[in-house]
Amino acid sequence: MEVLYLGSIVKDDKGEEYSLVKFLNNGGFGCVFLAERISDKMCFAVKTFLPVFKDSKCVDAFRNEIAMSADISGKNIIRYEYVHNGDTFKELPLYIIMEYADNGTLRDILDERKKLNKLFSLDELINIYKQLISGMEIINSKLVHRDVKPENILICGKILKITDFGLAKISAENTRTMTFKGGGTPLYMAPEAWDYSKNTIQMDIYSMGIIFYELATLHYPYALNSSNSNDEYRSCHLYSPVTNPQIYNSNLNPSFVSIINRMLEKKPKKRFEKWSDISEALEKFINSEQMANEYSELVNTLVSSKNIQNIEKQRQESIRIKKETEQTEFVKLIKSQIVNEIILPLQEFIEDVNLKYSGDDKFAYTPLGENAGKKCSLIWRLLSSNNNILQIRAEAIFKEDYTDVYEKGIMTRTIINNPKYKNNDVIACCEITNSIGNGFNLILVQNDDLYGNWYIMDNHNNFSFATSDKERREPFAFSINELPKEINLVQITHLYRADFLPFETKAFLERIQLLIINI
Ligand code: ATP
Ligand code: MG
Repeated sequence: MEVLYLGSIVKDDKGEEYSLVKFLNNGGFGCVFLAERISDKMCFAVKTFLPVFKDSKCVDAFRNEIAMSADISGKNIIRYEYVHNGDTFKELPLYIIMEYADNGTLRDILDERKKLNKLFSLDELINIYKQLISGMEIINSKLVHRDVKPENILICGKILKITDFGLAKISAENTRTMTFKGGGTPLYMAPEAWDYSKNTIQMDIYSMGIIFYELATLHYPYALNSSNSNDEYRSCHLYSPVTNPQIYNSNLNPSFVSIINRMLEKKPKKRFEKWSDISEALEKFINSEQMANEYSELVNTLVSSKNIQNIEKQRQESIRIKKETEQTEFVKLIKSQIVNEIILPLQEFIEDVNLKYSGDDKFAYTPLGENAGKKCSLIWRLLSSNNNILQIRAEAIFKEDYTDVYEKGIMTRTIINNPKYKNNDVIACCEITNSIGNGFNLILVQNDDLYGNWYIMDNHNNFSFATSDKERREPFAFSINELPKEINLVQITHLYRADFLPFETKAFLERIQLLIINI
């Protein structure tokens, strides 16, 4: 039997039978039923799984994690009564029989409070935090949960119990097609969980930090709602500083706030190392509350200003990281256009010549070389039997390298003089020269979409300005260093001028052929 239904009977390893008596809810992997143990009518929840496992690796991963989960127990953890790994009872699918939580989830409570706009008191918050810390400490001593969220915190009577530990791997298999990795939920996923697969308990600390924040403020730490796209969530977790919690709840004590803030640090290393450090920080805060003295106000003001400074530091850091990431993406984009549109067609052309020529002095070329560093400098060489005969250098052009900020008193003036062609930014350029100094240039001009359009630049002396010492032998290329400046100059009256032709592979190869043949 692949699927369980209302009325199905499941079993455990002690010979007990359980009847599924009520559908409770749907979840990420299947559904959850209320079950009754037939022998004593006691209530349990049975979580079933859609038949999702396609290969045995998934099943192994599941068994592994589940085997570990079965040993995890504590007051603030849902007890797994029995885990069926799909083997013991051949006629039954995978399922987990667990403790039944009769009072809903933390999500329900949070939503209710948000609706009523009724902030939790400090005592309530401390009580909830302590329970969650104690549950997470035990879970994280065995595994990384990876899907910490209010839906996975159930309430039995008045006690909070964390559930679904050890299941994130399956959900990762299930959501493989999505852009985010791991089992997490976009609202609660740590910055590093979006990009790296290495799991650490710091991911769980971050997710719980968001829950602590929501409990303390009844707000989400970032300006987002559930209709945002994955990219927007990712960008917030990675780059946006959290809103100062005191804006939403002015009663919060600054040292209490600094605990939450530290759980939400972007860099995993800056978060708490372990849960016991969090409970220690919380205890310290509680003690200091009880020992308030005449200096408490002064201390609080200082701690509060440090919290704000810290958020500002995070903001600056985020801007820097974001800029770096954008640059890396930009360079990737430029490189792909140089390779796909210039180098590959050229290599094909040379291969074609070699194929048709039977002599032993065929053309050879070096693989595309790359200069590490921000500029994406690429170099490619065509070699004949005696000499280098053609060299291509290409480079990305960054607008900010051409931006100058002048400050005069309180006035600042920003002047951007980046290379442009017909008012569009030139984002990359190429110098193509042969060994006797002839050549031409290519420029990549930004267009409306993400990519650019290549242009061929045929350069000439401008004889109305001719001074013999500046005259160059045509056709010539500007070097990769002088080119960015020359692009703007040749379009106004100047020593040199250029014809710009929209790039076509044939026109490009014609010029290459002339450069090779003329030496
Ligand atoms: P995910 O699949 O990512 O964990 P989820 O938590 O919303 O998402 P499930 O874990 O499948 O989905 O749970 C679905 C719902 O079933 C829960 O929100 C809760 O209402 C209910 N539920 C789950 N486990 C129990 C339980 N042990 N006792 C009572 N109700 C439960
Ligand atoms: Mg769940």
